[in-house]
Amino acid sequence: MNPIPYGRQHITDEDMAAVAKALTSPALTQGPTIGQFEEAFAQYIGSQYAVAVANGTAALHLCALALGVNETSKVITTPITFSASANCIRYCGGEVHFADIDPETLVLDPKAVRALLEKHPKGTFSGIIPVDFAGYPADMAAFRELADEFGLWLLEDSCHAPGASFTDEQGQNHRCGDGSLAELAIFSFHPVKHIACGEGGMITTNNEALYRHLLRLRTHGITNKPGDFSEPEPGEPERGGWYMELQELGYNYRLTDMQAALGLSQLKRADAMLDRRRAIAARYDAAFTGTAVRTIVPPDRVGHAYHLYVIQVPDRKGLYDYLRTKNIFAQVHYIPVHRMPYYRQFGWKLGDFPLAEDYYAHGLSIPMFPTLTDEEQAYVIREVLAFVNGKV
Ligand SMILES: *Cc1c(COP(=O)(O)O)cnc(C)c1O
Repeated sequence: MNPIPYGRQHITDEDMAAVAKALTSPALTQGPTIGQFEEAFAQYIGSQYAVAVANGTAALHLCALALGVNETSKVITTPITFSASANCIRYCGGEVHFADIDPETLVLDPKAVRALLEKHPKGTFSGIIPVDFAGYPADMAAFRELADEFGLWLLEDSCHAPGASFTDEQGQNHRCGDGSLAELAIFSFHPVKHIACGEGGMITTNNEALYRHLLRLRTHGITNKPGDFSEPEPGEPERGGWYMELQELGYNYRLTDMQAALGLSQLKRADAMLDRRRAIAARYDAAFTGTAVRTIVPPDRVGHAYHLYVIQVPDRKGLYDYLRTKNIFAQVHYIPVHRMPYYRQFGWKLGDFPLAEDYYAHGLSIPMFPTLTDEEQAYVIREVLAFVNGKV
């Protein structure tokens, strides 16, 4: 068997033609493909606005800036995420706090967040960054209630969840990042995610003021819209067509047109690829039922996007090492963020978030990507079961 990674991008002839076309267009960056990608992505997710940026981490950073995070801000997120979900707060000088996960879903537990909020005077915290870990939608309806009660904003890290959704208690369906519950949501187009741009990211929102601010922050903090200009000062040379203003300190976090063309082309296949991920997950679910392999099987009201297929086993390191000898390259998502030396310096220690730490001790992401063949998947299932059943 050829090596099987835990995730892999899929590039078609159509994708390559789209990139080639972008390369021969007059604009390699800030051209029309960016707006087309933003519009198509907003439509796919169901949000009013979308802002394309250089990568998912840049998306998080700009959101933190637009939400006003600074040295006085305290923000809550989950320990089970890629560290960028927390780092964006540090970029702006804010303090990162964590709350534990729900062991049944592996996403941030609103009850744990409530307990943390209630331990401190109102106004202590500024916002929450729930993460749709592995593609399982965070309980954004519960987080919205908390946010309204405690005066917080919500930034949903949906990097794992384009196309994921859940039905709330009123029977209303919400797509992750559709702007109905969180002020802002972000996505990544790193090749291992659902849609590949090479590097790339997107912010979605229904808030027009945040949208306009994000557009400016993405391009250095510069505006060239005459309606936004400051009043001319006496003695200043007359302004002309060249005139623009740096109004605040922003960044160059733009996406190129080649990357946007690739993303736009991939987006056309997003639903088909999501169906394939769900079919692979259903086959894993069935194969591991009644075995020592613990899986996350979502209820009917949850539309899981399966960026990752996560299992939990008694001897995780043993299984990881065994699978490597069989050319199966499973991965661990994630070492809890509070266990990283960078975050330990702020006083977080082993035992702070026992449920997240227990998941980390047993969790393994096994191959999950749309081009995984039935034969490859059968081989993965066979080898995982052979190991956990003690047959090897
Ligand atoms: C991938 C990822 C990011 C960062 O995205 P990049 O495009 O790699 O910068 C942030 N959060 C989560 C949960 C991710 O999986």
